[in-house]
Amino acid sequence: MPKTSVAKDRILTGMRPTGPLHLGHYVGALENWIKLQAKYDCHFLIADYQAFGDYADNIDKIRDSVIEVTIDWLSVGLDPQKTTFVVQSYVPEHAELSMLLSMITPKVLIDRNPTLKAESLLQKDISLGFYNYPASQVADILLSRANLVPVGEDQLPHIELTREIARKFNRMYGEIFALPNALLGRVPRLVGLDGKAKMSKSLGNCIYLSDDAQTVEKKVKKMFTDPTRLKSTDPGHIEGNVVFMYLDAFYPDQAELKNLKKQYKEGKLGDVTVKGILTEVLNKFLEPIREKRAYFQAHPELVREALLEGTSKAQKLAAHTMLEVRYAMKITGYEDIKNIKKIISK
Ligand code: ATP
Ligand code: MG
Repeated sequence: MPKTSVAKDRILTGMRPTGPLHLGHYVGALENWIKLQAKYDCHFLIADYQAFGDYADNIDKIRDSVIEVTIDWLSVGLDPQKTTFVVQSYVPEHAELSMLLSMITPKVLIDRNPTLKAESLLQKDISLGFYNYPASQVADILLSRANLVPVGEDQLPHIELTREIARKFNRMYGEIFALPNALLGRVPRLVGLDGKAKMSKSLGNCIYLSDDAQTVEKKVKKMFTDPTRLKSTDPGHIEGNVVFMYLDAFYPDQAELKNLKKQYKEGKLGDVTVKGILTEVLNKFLEPIREKRAYFQAHPELVREALLEGTSKAQKLAAHTMLEVRYAMKITGYEDIKNIKKIISK
């Protein structure tokens, strides 16, 4: 049988440009994205509209972060030749579709969204735009015609919401949207340097992908190890030991790491030594990323190209989707102006 070429499944995923990316972003998202780009038609969204929802008073920061995130992405090996980088605000159709879909989205579905519930508890005065972010994510997915969205267990409600809204739209106006599926994967979470549940900018407990070797060394020195250990010859605990959690995530040889843990538990390995090992492991991991960063910083035209090419592809796709949407919804448009006499005489 002759081989027929099959179009690749399209993936949409993204990040909000709210500052430099850190090791948490790498472990929880980028590492997976790097693998996905070989197999799928990946659209990586820099969701700046979404960031305005809680940074409307600091648009400069968001604008700078769009470039910062792009350079972070390029530095870890996301490849604009294989994938599509999209800046949300360069494709205003994202806002248009989000607004239109919000008209058919029952408010109660948004109220029920677990991520939003968690965020609302953290911030007391969330904006209407921020509140609407689950619906805006639905628009991002449907606008790009993605059929797969990589998520962890806890984000499944977002995909359910997307399918529900797409189904409702299709029922009301005609079959426009294919229903996307979740590409379910394990999303590992990296704890903060302070041992708090999540490495996060707002908690100030991060190692950034852009940190230099000395900064990494300083940060690792301040990390928590085993608080019950007074001398380096005391038997050490691995459980809850932040340094070992990082070694679990980044140490390249699991068998060797097992041996290190054994020595630590037997009181044969001091905290200073373990931290030295971690510093070395992290710097070895970050070094090629730093080299690529320096390259892209010296070649800003490549950064610009990645954004322009991706955006231009996304603009065409969005224009096409919105043409179909407006037509399906029979929204007032140019055709109506041409037929104005007919409408007046109705
Ligand atoms: P921060 O919390 O540092 O401000 P952010 O809010 O920009 O970062 P999110 O929007 O929370 O980041 O996450 C963007 C992506 O990165 C998501 O896929 C999320 O799962 C992942 N991510 C962020 N921080 C971590 C972490 N500490 N561990 C694992 N994954 C993470
Ligand atoms: Mg966050």
